[in-house]
Amino acid sequence: MAAPATKLLINNRWVASESGDTFATVNPATGEEICQVAAANAIDVEKAVFAARTAFETGPWRKMHASERGRLLYILADLIENNADELAQLESLDNGKPVSVAKRVDVAKTVACYRYFAGWADKIQGKTIPIDGDFFCYTRHEPIGVVGQIIPWNYPMLMQAWKLAPALATGNTVVMKPAEQTPLSSLRIGELVVEAGFPEGVVNILSGFGPTAGAAIARHMDVDKVAFTGSTEIGRLILEAAAKSNLKRVTLELGGKSPNIVFEDTDLDEAVEGAHLGLFSNQGQICCAGSRVFVEEKIYDQFVEKSATRAHKRVVGDPFDPKTEQGPQVDQAQFDKVMGYIESGQSEGATLVCGGKRVGHRGYFIEPTVFADVQDDMKVAREEIFGPVMSVIPFKNLDEVITRANRTDYGLAAGVWTRDIKKAHAIANGVRAGTVWVNCYNILDTRAPFGGFKQSGTGRELGEYGLQQYSEVKTIIVRL
Ligand code: ADP
Repeated sequence: MAAPATKLLINNRWVASESGDTFATVNPATGEEICQVAAANAIDVEKAVFAARTAFETGPWRKMHASERGRLLYILADLIENNADELAQLESLDNGKPVSVAKRVDVAKTVACYRYFAGWADKIQGKTIPIDGDFFCYTRHEPIGVVGQIIPWNYPMLMQAWKLAPALATGNTVVMKPAEQTPLSSLRIGELVVEAGFPEGVVNILSGFGPTAGAAIARHMDVDKVAFTGSTEIGRLILEAAAKSNLKRVTLELGGKSPNIVFEDTDLDEAVEGAHLGLFSNQGQICCAGSRVFVEEKIYDQFVEKSATRAHKRVVGDPFDPKTEQGPQVDQAQFDKVMGYIESGQSEGATLVCGGKRVGHRGYFIEPTVFADVQDDMKVAREEIFGPVMSVIPFKNLDEVITRANRTDYGLAAGVWTRDIKKAHAIANGVRAGTVWVNCYNILDTRAPFGGFKQSGTGRELGEYGLQQYSEVKTIIVRL
């Protein structure tokens, strides 16, 4: 495996941080340090924003044909595909996810995302509008400018793609900060960005911490937009920093506590498997995880038993073993947080039917855990756990479950399992969430928009809707 550059990417050059500070990135399967990575601070952010501004105002990027921007994105996608094995291994090493999943899901979806937005680059067009009077009115969709992008650690490479691809397709320049837990794949992709031939300053990547580098991006007066994925708590700080600085545009993709609703008329085994994958995939570290599994009373006991059996069979272990389904949580802090929720579920009276303990003695592995008899007001049913902990909650009827499903500050996603098309549509229409899956879960595609209602975020990513968040509409009126 080629070692990625572990410095900061500013203006297509790899440079040490201004302070010379570095930090360790850790292999969550062992708790051991992988390597040291440069830690950016506000001065590095300043330099990166200057590079991005210069690239936006006077560099070749601004004059480049849209089709040429698209071509660079296609080249980047090809480079990622050609390095798929290495990137999957790097992602697995740094994040802990099984390498087989990293290749099948993370790398494959990353490539698809760059290709999809590459195709859009020369298809972004305005309208001609027949206004009153003797005028010719048309709109142009122009890039916003310098975009700050702050991403999380659960899908490092894919979250980078969701942000970078639409920003570049629309002609913006970028200052990106990967999460401090998982900087390596972002930096390696940075090398491929340079290799693909993107001009200087178009993509700048700064590894570093949230309160220093992240906050400096959010409050910067010369950053025109910030796109953030992470916790609702930090999302609030980003919005506040934007309001207090230059009213930069903000898109936020935040937490969730998504309901996955199982009716008694469903194919039970399919629903059990769907709910299992809907929660336990990616070690439970998915913002749209189906973490409140509402099950109709008549099949509740059977569902709990089958879910516990399935969770018990889940293969937890070495991320580099091809049989592994679940690796470690990303770091000690996440491990402690998830174990704390398991304790709280037990002390609040939920029934632990499977798991609940640490696996092994090193690394951050947790047993797939299932709680039954969960009440809506318990912490495990209200707060985002972001780990392999399923709460199974009984319900009686359709109207009741819609009300209870909506009794949350979040609104990212929901699922419903039924053979009755009327019930499926009643849930799809009644639940206040950005995505509703019917007889499936966690189906994400680069062509379909994704984002949250309520405190799960603002704006949408992916698809045409996601693209719109990266341009400003300019109206031009010409007297004839
Ligand atoms: P988590 O709790 O899952 O780690 P966070 O919301 O803390 O999620 O982190 C998501 C991203 O936001 C990371 O890149 C992190 O470094 C960054 N971040 C954390 N705190 C701040 C902050 N105060 N300002 C800007 N970015 C931040």
